[in-house]
Amino acid sequence: KLHNTILELKGNIRVFCRVRPQLPDDSSSNQGKVFSYPTATEYVGRGIDMTQNGQKHSFTFDKVFMPDTSQEEVFIEISQLVQSALDGYKVCIFAYGQTGSGKTYTMMGKPGQPDEKGLIPRSLEQIFQTKQALQPQGWRYEMQVSMLEIYNETVRDLLSPIRDSSRIENGTPGKQYTIKHNANGNTHVSDLTIVDVQSSREVAYLLDRAAHSRSVGKTHMNEQSSRSHFVFTMRITGVNESTEQQVQGVLNLIDLAGSERLSKSGSTGDRLKETQAINKSLSSLADVIFALAKKEDHVPFRNSKLTYLLQPCLGGDSKTLMFVNISPEPSSVGESLCSLRFASRVN
Ligand code: ADP
Ligand code: MG
Repeated sequence: KLHNTILELKGNIRVFCRVRPQLPDDSSSNQGKVFSYPTATEYVGRGIDMTQNGQKHSFTFDKVFMPDTSQEEVFIEISQLVQSALDGYKVCIFAYGQTGSGKTYTMMGKPGQPDEKGLIPRSLEQIFQTKQALQPQGWRYEMQVSMLEIYNETVRDLLSPIRDSSRIENGTPGKQYTIKHNANGNTHVSDLTIVDVQSSREVAYLLDRAAHSRSVGKTHMNEQSSRSHFVFTMRITGVNESTEQQVQGVLNLIDLAGSERLSKSGSTGDRLKETQAINKSLSSLADVIFALAKKEDHVPFRNSKLTYLLQPCLGGDSKTLMFVNISPEPSSVGESLCSLRFASRVN
């Protein structure tokens, strides 16, 4: 059975699949191979096969990264997309997958391991280097960043100077964070902190602060991050002093909530509410991307906070890339198949 990805439908939407390597703490490490890579070259191909209960399922993506693909090799494949934000495009890069599949590793990397930094820090370095490199040609760029989290369909500002921990606990923010889109296609979130930045180091500092804000009031960082979407946004405005050309690009980098909630039943109370909110936003995201790929007249942006927030950056001539992160663990085959299917939208 060959599942076609939404990518086959084309447009400016791409889906990359990345399988993380086995980790020392993974359970049942050597219980047989779940994945194989039929058309793979050295570290990147387009096909992936997975076997569940003796049945083989085949998928095709724009790219498939094998477990030993380095962060640098992954970045090589997306650096042009990042570059296009400096050329005035609106770009969204998502990481989708169950908790523990490597979303945050792909986006941020491994703390304290410079070689293993992820695509957010690499993108920032490239952006600021390019800014410098384009100066002799008359280009002047200004960059602004914001960082927010969407939890239970509620926006939280991760760079807000004062955070009220009671508000974090019960998920009812004191501020409204109303999302509005103005006529020229820019998004405005009321009360959201927006910071002018001059260097990748400054942004790295803000990313640290955001990570801290995310974990406040929660016992376990990974627990919190698995239930909320993290949205990093950089607005880039460029003016050429000699030609008077102007560009306005946006780079959105999104570490999505863990997709395992989609299949977890039997939750009650707060967990049930979380599950429903995550279900709603992940399935809305799939609906929106699918409608865009099929060039449908109606795109259901308003069905979730996440898709509504990103509406101006999805569709039109904007560019979207979704990483589908997959765990190699035999105990995760069910979830992995769900993720691969989510990305291919067959059912
Ligand atoms: P998620 O954000 O999807 O919950 P993480 O990014 O936290 O998952 O990854 C889970 C663990 O696996 C972390 O310890 C991370 O460092 C490790 N990991 C994930 N992907 C890779 C990879 N490609 N190479 C090495 N380690 C990885
Ligand atoms: Mg994570």
